[in-house]
Amino acid sequence: MQTILKFGGTSISYAGGLTKVLNIVRSKLETCSRISIVISAFAGQTDKLLELATDKDSRQKLTAEIKDFHLSFLSEVAAQSSKDGVNKLINELSAEKIDGSLESIDRILSYGERLSLCVIGEVFSNSFKDFSVIDSRDFLCTNEDFGTAAIDFEKSENKVREILAKTKNFITNGFIGRSTSGKTTTLGRGGSDYTATFLAYASNAKEIEIYTAVDGVLTADPKRVNSAFKLPHLSYEEALELCHFGSKVIFPRAIQPALEKQIPIYIKNYQHPEQPGTVISKAPPPENFLVTGVSSISDIALIRLEGSGLYGVAGIAKRLFAALSDKKISVILISQASSESSICFAIPTSSCKQAEQTINDAFKEEISAHLVRPVSVDSNLAIIAIIGANMRKTPGIAGRAFQALGKNGINAAAIAQGSSELNISVVISKSDEDKALNALHDAFFLSGVTTVHLFQIGVGQVGKKLLEQIAENYESINKRGVQLKLAGLANSRKISLSKDGIRFNAWESALEKGQTANVTQFIQAAKKLNLPNSILVDCTANEEVGNTYEQVLDSAISIVTPNKKANSSSYQRYKALKSIAKKRNVKFFYETNVGAGLPVISTLNDLLISGDKVVKIEAVLSGTLSYIFNTFSAETRFSDVVKKAKAQGYTEPDPRDDLSGTDVARKLLILAREIGQNLELSDIKVESLVPKECESCKSGDEFLAKLPEHDSYYGEVAKKAKAEDKVLRYIGKIENGKAEVSLQAVGANHPFYSLSGSDNIISFVTERYLERPLVVKGPGAGTDVTAAGVLADILRVASYLA
Ligand code: ASP
Ligand code: MG
Repeated sequence: MQTILKFGGTSISYAGGLTKVLNIVRSKLETCSRISIVISAFAGQTDKLLELATDKDSRQKLTAEIKDFHLSFLSEVAAQSSKDGVNKLINELSAEKIDGSLESIDRILSYGERLSLCVIGEVFSNSFKDFSVIDSRDFLCTNEDFGTAAIDFEKSENKVREILAKTKNFITNGFIGRSTSGKTTTLGRGGSDYTATFLAYASNAKEIEIYTAVDGVLTADPKRVNSAFKLPHLSYEEALELCHFGSKVIFPRAIQPALEKQIPIYIKNYQHPEQPGTVISKAPPPENFLVTGVSSISDIALIRLEGSGLYGVAGIAKRLFAALSDKKISVILISQASSESSICFAIPTSSCKQAEQTINDAFKEEISAHLVRPVSVDSNLAIIAIIGANMRKTPGIAGRAFQALGKNGINAAAIAQGSSELNISVVISKSDEDKALNALHDAFFLSGVTTVHLFQIGVGQVGKKLLEQIAENYESINKRGVQLKLAGLANSRKISLSKDGIRFNAWESALEKGQTANVTQFIQAAKKLNLPNSILVDCTANEEVGNTYEQVLDSAISIVTPNKKANSSSYQRYKALKSIAKKRNVKFFYETNVGAGLPVISTLNDLLISGDKVVKIEAVLSGTLSYIFNTFSAETRFSDVVKKAKAQGYTEPDPRDDLSGTDVARKLLILAREIGQNLELSDIKVESLVPKECESCKSGDEFLAKLPEHDSYYGEVAKKAKAEDKVLRYIGKIENGKAEVSLQAVGANHPFYSLSGSDNIISFVTERYLERPLVVKGPGAGTDVTAAGVLADILRVASYLA
């Protein structure tokens, strides 16, 4: 039985590659009874010839280049006898008429395969016994559709039979054929695969092996999708769908002859012939993937014809597509909803103007009668498709696909699914093409692992700690199905970006080498990268960063942050951020705005969504002030306690920032807003602990120097509390729509009485927790717990994206 081998241009175009090709043939000869080999032109030659055929001015230069290549290659591979043949062909080529017609283009393109066969045929004759060299035009009969000639199967088959009767093994060139009237034709770019599968068909071959420079058919274009991998099996139908899209591993029409006779096609890498490659055959094994590939076509325009005049009128589609077909405009995707009031289709952007004109002409009468509107054209689009035989009759595939797109803020402009259910195609914005491919690829092939792209701003204490925690727990996070990638990092001066991820334990050097840029530029860069599953992690306390949130969320990027500036700015902004996040289908998580890593906001939200009503919230929300009042008593001096707190790193550089109560008020404000109260920061009554006289101090040190003058006042307050068996606590309270922060004396029966260290405590009195409040208590400040809280929020976003 016959075996057909096809070698692409790359493999035969250099001596080392050719040696590999000869070795493959040698070992095949040991196991196969008969072999036919199809080769392409040498790499790049068809492109050169095409240029030559369409641009007279470069003719001499290009002919000389083509000649040089072939002459030097034939001497390199010791095929000297082919020299005369090559010279003869080059002379003929120089004499060819160039008139730009498809016919002359085909004739000129044919020299690529004719020249390669001349040289490689000689190499084969030198290397193997009994290997005939046959010009494929001697058996491949075609019609005269130059550029995309169709094979006349019957005639060609007969000729193949005649050849097989005379020869055992032969080598031939692909791509070219001859019409009945003797004209040279081509099958279309990349068409030598077609010659190979036709030969297999005509000779009832047992297999076809196509040797290329890649390992087989991949799940997606590896240049666009990092995690693409090789597919072991494909059905003919799947291969057909996949190769129509970006995956150019095989010439689409080449599938048909193999399918008809059920001859398996093996796509293999000539550099690793021992590897199995991809098999395209009748029935892929049952364990095959639900989806076999994710692919795309760039540069698409969507044209829409609409109007009430379309409803229920037969023949509209026929007229529309006939008009396009007359102009040889090929339509890639069609979609019409059952209301029939509009019909839309996608075409390559290059034919957009012509199509618009054509249709407006075709429907001129309806347009002037206002039954139909002039067509609308949207360009800058792309089509992405998911392909797979197992999608057939499997519910939920489309849902999964649209969810992956939706969560990444990608809008579908048009959708089409063939009734064969092999392909779901979606028209999207071209700028989202890579993001969509990756999101879909991850959704279908990496089930169990969600890749999340982080853009972190701020590498101060919390930011640094966060990166450290991720580095330490990277593997265990991965095991739980989340792959974190640090796609961008910024401090106040520099930014560093990496689509593939900055290493979590090497971020310092990456940032060092980064470019000088500000926050706005960082956000722009993150938007431009347009990676799926992106999260902005704001580890600053910076207002300017907080001001970017609207546009970040609006770009379908989630946000996780301990920065409370945005949430405690105006109520209107607080609400706007939530609604943008909702509209864009992304998350805005800020658990660490209140009580660091303590589950305060999530607990509150759980109460609310389960239908509970909050009656009162009381809380100690400052670790600093908690420490100060857990330490201060009638027996100590207030200024000493503050100094000690500062020395231990519990306070801001200027302790007044803590003592003023503003930070506590911001946290309380956020809690109040979470329970639905429309409050502004100015609505919160705050008792400042900074004595009036100290407000004007120029620095923290000056303040600390002056504070002892006020010790007696605080001493009195403490004594009074002690006399009542009470302790002092700085408490925020929300009740009856009001929020206030004040210093209070509480007795032993109060839950805050026994607070210690720098703990925070939040007590929720609700309808369900009325008598005994729900209390959350623990360290509410500190780098470690804050960073851990941020990480938990990141993973919460990830689980939503999964
Ligand atoms: N040499 C032709 C081309 O480049 C045919 C082929 O390589 O398959 O299109
Ligand atoms: Mg090719």
